[in-house]
Amino acid sequence: MTEVAPQKTHVVVVGGGYAGTLAANRLRQRPDIDITLVNPRPVFVERIRLHQLVADTGAATADYATLLGDGIRLVVDAVDRIEATARRVLLSSGAELDYDYLIYAVGSTGATPAAVPGFADFAYAIADLESAQRLRYALADLPMTAPVTVVGGGLTGIETAAELAERGRQVTLVCGAALGPSLSRRGRRSVAKRLRGFGVNVLESATVTEVRWDAVVLDDGAVLPSAATIWTAGFAVPDLAARSGLSTDALGRLLTDETLTSVDNPYVVAAGDAAAPSGQPLRMSCQAAGPLGVQAANTVLSRIAGTAPALLDQAFVGQCISLGRTYGTVQLSRTDDTPVNLALGGRTGASIKEAICKGTVWAIRREAAKPGSYLWLKGGKRPAQARTEGALR
Ligand SMILES: Cc1cc2nc3c(=O)[nH]c(=O)nc-3n(C[C@H](O)[C@H](O)[C@H](O)COP(=O)(O)OP(=O)(O)OC[C@H]3O[C@@H](n4cnc5c(N)ncnc54)[C@H](O)[C@@H]3O)c2cc1C
Repeated sequence: MTEVAPQKTHVVVVGGGYAGTLAANRLRQRPDIDITLVNPRPVFVERIRLHQLVADTGAATADYATLLGDGIRLVVDAVDRIEATARRVLLSSGAELDYDYLIYAVGSTGATPAAVPGFADFAYAIADLESAQRLRYALADLPMTAPVTVVGGGLTGIETAAELAERGRQVTLVCGAALGPSLSRRGRRSVAKRLRGFGVNVLESATVTEVRWDAVVLDDGAVLPSAATIWTAGFAVPDLAARSGLSTDALGRLLTDETLTSVDNPYVVAAGDAAAPSGQPLRMSCQAAGPLGVQAANTVLSRIAGTAPALLDQAFVGQCISLGRTYGTVQLSRTDDTPVNLALGGRTGASIKEAICKGTVWAIRREAAKPGSYLWLKGGKRPAQARTEGALR
């Protein structure tokens, strides 16, 4: 009698960022899983280094061959639609893939402001590889004395302004409300001091109301010359989940329970910036995306094994901000991500930040070589879980 080989489980991971690559590598703990990773580019993008790519102080891509474990199939394509009931994805190329489980890890993008004239024609983005490359080429054509405006006082805006100013660019940072609203008083002071040192013109409460080819207009009517305007304010996610008829939060993140499983379909599990567990998403960060990726994979592994998946459990430690290549600020936080009034600055901050950037890629490679080895900090408070426990008592 000929033996029939046991059927393998097919898991499709959509999106090869921090969450998706870690999830794919983690799944290799079971040899009976076929793993397909779908990503639109043949290279991994280190988004946390995109401001370096723009300022020409570093690269922001890595070869998937060095990041993915043996046997993971990389399909360079984009998922156009998820047919969750049929357990099938339709790709932009016209191809289709059937799956047993799907991990949704499509990440995030920059936001498009609703009513800012000139934004679409004249503003540059930095949130994805192609936008960052376009901006890099545009800057290369400009003299160093040309005024550059960075819009958005969040961490991406701060890092971009500092990186360019350290290289000698004339930078104005228009914050829109406050500089580093997620930072403590000390953290903000540390960042402000360094930006001042680089000569960045920080306009905390000003807002950009119009972008022109050679200027920005502020809410008080002032017109600032700007040869390149970089829009970092706001956050958006791909609309794939919503387009596919899956429940999302208001922004479009896939709505899941605390095991990261879609509230609509038990075979769809989400991770990273595009996931909204219990409608209470974690902060957009690779600090959250990595642990979410491995926990999403753990949920799939549990389901295949017929055991109950664990509830989301991870903790934040702080926010690390690079301020050029030689300075940085490390804002320490409670495990629920609220900042404490404690920050490390200067060269120590820069070394910690660089170690973290290197560490993210190192951790993906290690998980590829040794599936199951990824460790993350646990114990962060999840308001949704606290509510459920309270209700049970
Ligand atoms: C300039 C900059 C600096 C940053 N600095 C930091 C920092 O210092 N620390 C920090 O924690 N975070 C930082 N972030 C945020 C961080 O990069 C993101 O939070 C992180 O990348 C999220 O990881 P992810 O895996 O969820 O998604 P991503 O890394 O965005 O990966 C998602 C992947 O899915 C792919 N994808 C999208 N749609 C589809 C589709 N339909 N089909 C197939 N694939 C698809 C995308 O192309 C991408 O490759 C920074 C971001 C930027 C832009």
